[in-house]
This record gives sequence, structure tokens and C-alpha cells, in this order.
Amino acid sequence: MTPLDLQFKLDDLLDEPRPFRGEIAVEALDEVLRGMIGELGYRACGPAVVRGSAYRSKRDVFIEAEVSVAVGFDCVRCLDPLELTLARTVRHLLVPGKRETTPESEVTVEFSPADDADEDLDCYEGDAIDLVALLREDILLELPMNPTCIEAQGGACPRFDEVLAAPAAGPEPEVDPRWAPLLDLKKKLS
Ligand SMILES: [Zn+2]
Repeated sequence: MTPLDLQFKLDDLLDEPRPFRGEIAVEALDEVLRGMIGELGYRACGPAVVRGSAYRSKRDVFIEAEVSVAVGFDCVRCLDPLELTLARTVRHLLVPGKRETTPESEVTVEFSPADDADEDLDCYEGDAIDLVALLREDILLELPMNPTCIEAQGGACPRFDEVLAAPAAGPEPEVDPRWAPLLDLKKKLS
């Protein structure tokens, strides 16, 4: 069976799982990533690669997707530019959203959130399933809010101590100008 793209119609799905695969473009990722952690900002190093499968049960759509993406950022401590790779398996249950049109001819069914609180319940509108928007949100939620070298390398932030220990006198080493206020303070205290 031909894998679906990341955007498809409800009618493309059967009650048997159908594979999908695709990429979320850098531009689409950057729309949500930029500004997320202030001026430092995340940026996509490449498209997010997605593969998974989906099936439907009446109008409920079950999605399981593996998402991997590399994002760049500056360590919030030492300001080194870094890259971290995120790889996650996510599951979603999509239910039809309320349609704003023709309220009389259409019965809107209130759905009650699933008992399982861990289950992500999302909506789709009409018969269009858009995994780009959905998975982009997943990526956003998985990223650390204050990313440091630790997230990227699994170790300590190597330059943090080094920068603080920089000699106060003599020719200044190459230090990112954003550290200047902290170094000035250190000079006053010593
Ligand atoms: Zn660092």
C-alpha cells in the first residue's frame, strides 16, 4: 500500500493501519520554534522526518508516529551554539471537531475526554487530517525550555566554569559580548 503523506483525508484511511511518511519542512518548523526560548531561539537544522501508521474507527483516527528532528540552539549557560536531536514516538487520537457551518442540519456530538488521561485527544476539521500541525506541536512540547550543553551532549556544560574563571586583567579572551555584564560584576567583587 502506498504510504500516505502527512496531510490526508479521512476517507484515505481504513480500519486497517495504513502507513504514512513525510517531512515537516524547516520553514514550517521555524514558524513555531523561533522565539520559543526568547532571543536565543531554537532553529531547525533540517526537516523533521516522520513515519508512522494510522487507522480509523468510524470517525476516530488513531495515529502513531516516529518523529525525529535536529534543532540548533545556544546553550543558555555558555552560549555555545549546539544541536540536539529529538526522536520520539507519539500517539494521538483524533476526533471530529465541531463544525461551525450548518448547525441545524448537523448534529454536533459532544465527546467526553477519554478516561485515559495520558491519551492525547485532538480534533480535525471536516475530513482533513493534518499531521504537520499536530506533530509540530509535539516537537515543541518535547524541547527543553532552558537548553544547555547537557541536553546536547549528555555531559556538563564545559565552558561555563571556564568563562567564569577567565582572568579579569590583561587582554580579554574571546568572550561572547553577552557575558560582559557578568564579567564586570566579577571584576568588582574580586
Ligand atoms: Zn553550555
